[in-house]
Amino acid sequence: MQPREFLMIPGPTPVPDAVLEAVSRHPIGHRSADFSKVLRETIDQLKNLGATNNDVLLFTASGTGAMEAAIANTINQGDHVLSLVCGVFSERWARIAEAFGARVERLTAEPGEAIDPAAVKRRLDADSEKSVKVVTITHNETSTGVMNDLSKIAAAVREHGAISIVDAVTSFGAYPVPIDEWGIDVLITGSQKALMLPPGLAFAFVSKNAWAAYDRCRTPRYYFDFKMYRKSLEADTTPFTPNVSFVVGLQTALQMLHDAGRDAVFERHLRLKNMVRGGVKAMGLELFVKDEAASPTITAILPPKDLTVDAIRKRLKERFRIVVADGQDALKGKIFRIGHMGYVFERDILMTLSSLECVLTELGYPCPPGKATSAAVAVLSGAVTAK
Ligand SMILES: *Cc1c(COP(=O)(O)O)cnc(C)c1O
Repeated sequence: MQPREFLMIPGPTPVPDAVLEAVSRHPIGHRSADFSKVLRETIDQLKNLGATNNDVLLFTASGTGAMEAAIANTINQGDHVLSLVCGVFSERWARIAEAFGARVERLTAEPGEAIDPAAVKRRLDADSEKSVKVVTITHNETSTGVMNDLSKIAAAVREHGAISIVDAVTSFGAYPVPIDEWGIDVLITGSQKALMLPPGLAFAFVSKNAWAAYDRCRTPRYYFDFKMYRKSLEADTTPFTPNVSFVVGLQTALQMLHDAGRDAVFERHLRLKNMVRGGVKAMGLELFVKDEAASPTITAILPPKDLTVDAIRKRLKERFRIVVADGQDALKGKIFRIGHMGYVFERDILMTLSSLECVLTELGYPCPPGKATSAAVAVLSGAVTAK
């Protein structure tokens, strides 16, 4: 007999029992009044969570589907797109835009560093001819554990007049993303990260300016055509058969977030971040991202000198059934990543840190037992303020 596998990866994330129960019911018809009611309430909750009145379009797809939809509905062949690239997911925006024929310019940051908002502003200020039509931004770069200063970057884009397209897959629902206040034109997110569902649903929040870009857009698309979704939504339905079970599950998940309180949920994620970072530092390990740019939902850690990422991950899994993530692409084997988003609590961090201590000790890294957990407990007891 083995304990339940515990996912401390940046998605999919653990799913609450109530949500599992909701998704396991018999599907309801997507043209029924029951479904329309669920859909309406779900869309309203999503607007509430994003502090926005923008249209919310729901797709049965992974997060990347909504990314493709955002590009396919706003850019034309040859459009100048500025992609802010600081890792695998922000690079994905550039590649999708290129696939749709955009002329992509990358403004990059080193892995582990955030995009400099001042550099974005300088680049856009220099674009006096308004050649840049779209700026793509990844709020939380999951591959490195960096959170970008979206509020400042979005302000620079707004001042310039380009359309901002934002991936908030690993921030939405865990960190404040006030879409209207920050003036974000298209924001996309997915079900399997902070929203506590399995993978399978994706969302796009679409502003007035983005609809104007839609009206100028000639790019071929069908399944992901924004207007079909908006038109259906006016009748509280979807153009095609959505994953009805997940929409029902999402209603439960969003109700749980609502009952917990948006701000309390955001504060919990900051606390989890501080617990993990405090614990990791106490173990004498090096964090990949400095405090100012650190993500509230994912922490990247360098292995101790004589240990491999593989060995640490393998032993954590075998010994405690805890799964942490490897680095991606160029960072594979260089860092390991602990996800702490969604249905993840203080207890889970204590468990992960003490398991990690144990594993490192067994692998020969001198790691005095209890140091990491004491540092994490200090965060919990408020000796270190959550910020
Ligand atoms: C998980 C994730 C996505 C979506 O990836 P899918 O596998 O398509 O769901 C997009 N962006 C970021 C930053 C992510 O972490």
